[in-house]
Amino acid sequence: MKPPRFDYHDPDTMEEALGLLARHGDGARVLAGGQSLVPMLNFRLARPAHVIDVNRLAGLGVAGPGPDAGLRIGALVRQRTLERSDAIRAHSPLIAQAMPFVGHLQIRSRGTLGGSLAHADPAAELPAVMVALGARFTLRSARGERALAAGDFFVAALTTALAADELLTEIGLPAWPERTGSSLQEVAIRRGDFALGGVAATLTLDAQGRVAGARIACFGVGPCPVRALNAERSLTGGAPTAAAFAEAGRLASAAVDPSDDIHATAAYRKRLAGVLTTRALSASLASIASLAA
Ligand SMILES: Cc1cc2nc3c(=O)[nH]c(=O)nc-3n(C[C@H](O)[C@H](O)[C@H](O)COP(=O)(O)OP(=O)(O)OC[C@H]3O[C@@H](n4cnc5c(N)ncnc54)[C@H](O)[C@@H]3O)c2cc1C
Repeated sequence: MKPPRFDYHDPDTMEEALGLLARHGDGARVLAGGQSLVPMLNFRLARPAHVIDVNRLAGLGVAGPGPDAGLRIGALVRQRTLERSDAIRAHSPLIAQAMPFVGHLQIRSRGTLGGSLAHADPAAELPAVMVALGARFTLRSARGERALAAGDFFVAALTTALAADELLTEIGLPAWPERTGSSLQEVAIRRGDFALGGVAATLTLDAQGRVAGARIACFGVGPCPVRALNAERSLTGGAPTAAAFAEAGRLASAAVDPSDDIHATAAYRKRLAGVLTTRALSASLASIASLAA
């Protein structure tokens, strides 16, 4: 199908883009990589009167150092750049670990970080990665700028805290703590499909080799990424053993409340959250060991 008619705008400056959003907010959609928006237009699941293409806005497509040894990634940075950039991989390896699971090469070449986050598909990898990393998002509008923690940004399936006149402009990541490993594990019917369920995890050890902290974000098992907080707490201060990871898996499974759909039952997805948590923690530990080697 072809999309319904809309007015196309391609502003050159941020001020112009925010002005268009202020004027047309409710009736407008931002176009980034187009990998979710264009199918939605073609299937007429979205019928905006105005499409605001932000690809000309300078500065949104770059990544660089942030405050306190953090990293800032512009919302328009392509998913393929997240996969290939040595600087991003060196700072936050979980991002590069996740990227091969996101769609296919052609989709990642156009799709952007901000587009994936703003689209907020419950089974998407990047929202869970950002929750696991403790990212902060910068949202701009003609009214001003605000920052939100990733955990507060995702509100429901395909729904975020973005107001109609706001643009997601930047993603800020904290410093990667020493002795930290990470992993993303998922199960999908075919490679490149959206996941039936998945887990993004980080694990930090202290100088004595005990768990200093863990962050576990499950996806595809609820409307938004789910932090498995009890599982995280169960690990802190203990030894990083197989038994501890199995118990964290049991607690992560208990933390999620998935639904049935044509692809999998809720019971299967609940079990998946547990099994993948245990696997993600083991792989995170192995990645710390490989850093030390
Ligand atoms: C066949 C196929 C398979 C896929 N598989 C996966 C997968 O396995 N995992 C996965 O995570 N994704 C998958 N995707 C989706 C892909 O990752 C998209 O690139 C992503 O969801 C949207 O990014 P985009 O830049 O293309 O955004 P667009 O399609 O341009 O926009 C998506 C939505 O976000 C809004 N938006 C975009 N940027 C901003 C911004 N800066 N501020 C405010 N709002 C904004 C748009 O208005 C729109 O509503 C798949 C897509 C396809 C077509």
